[in-house]
Amino acid sequence: MKLIIGHLYPELMNIYGDMGNIIALQKRAEWRGIEVVIKKFSIENKLKQGKVDLFFFGGGQDQAQELVAGDLVASSKGKIIKKEVEKGVPLLAICGGYQLLGEYYQPHNATKLTGIGVFPAYTVAGDNRMIGNIVVQSSWFTVHGQEETSMNNELPAKHTMNYLVGFENHSGKTFLKEGAQPLGQVVKGFGNNGEDQTEGCIYKNAVGSYMHGSLLPKNPGLADWLLTKALELKYGKEIALEPLDNTLENLAHKAAVLKYS
Ligand code: GLN
Repeated sequence: MKLIIGHLYPELMNIYGDMGNIIALQKRAEWRGIEVVIKKFSIENKLKQGKVDLFFFGGGQDQAQELVAGDLVASSKGKIIKKEVEKGVPLLAICGGYQLLGEYYQPHNATKLTGIGVFPAYTVAGDNRMIGNIVVQSSWFTVHGQEETSMNNELPAKHTMNYLVGFENHSGKTFLKEGAQPLGQVVKGFGNNGEDQTEGCIYKNAVGSYMHGSLLPKNPGLADWLLTKALELKYGKEIALEPLDNTLENLAHKAAVLKYS
């Protein structure tokens, strides 16, 4: 099988280790014998419908976001990404990328940036930066089978593998609109806005999150979920990815859950 990963604005939107998500997706696919092609879509590149199996959109500072927001509209990349998400193409967007996939992002003393409306959410600049390690309870991505049992046996009763762990650094406060599905509930950290205990947003197979770090190496269940969704849509059949040895990933995950929750 072959997987085409579309990396959106890599030169402009790639901070706090977000590149690690592309590496994690590529390696976890290649370790299963799946060929991976990474296609970069910067301002000068054209995006065509149906040419990408999985999108990744990293975080970026306000200045970069202004440039990218303009291009998403002017180049119609935004319209195409939205149509692909509606078709079920999976996407992972982190922080600044996540903000631009909502309805809008209003930075401090600057022009409001129109989002492309993938997520039913909007973002306004906050007065304080929300920085630190974050632990989120999420029912979306659990470790199945013996890993979960062994991990949960080792973890104190209150801990389960239904957690996502990461690192956040943002001043933007994202608010989900009525009916929007959060990625999870904050156990430790700020999440979307530091007020309503939600973190991220999930819409069809698109995931938005404030978790840098990078997110996927320490959350292999989410990485495999994105890969599975992409391959199932592309090949039109149910896909059961061959299990990998997640010992290191789960040790890092467990250490973060134990230390920060
Ligand atoms: N500029 C945005 C904010 O500070 C996003 C930053 C980021 O991607 N970490 O909220």
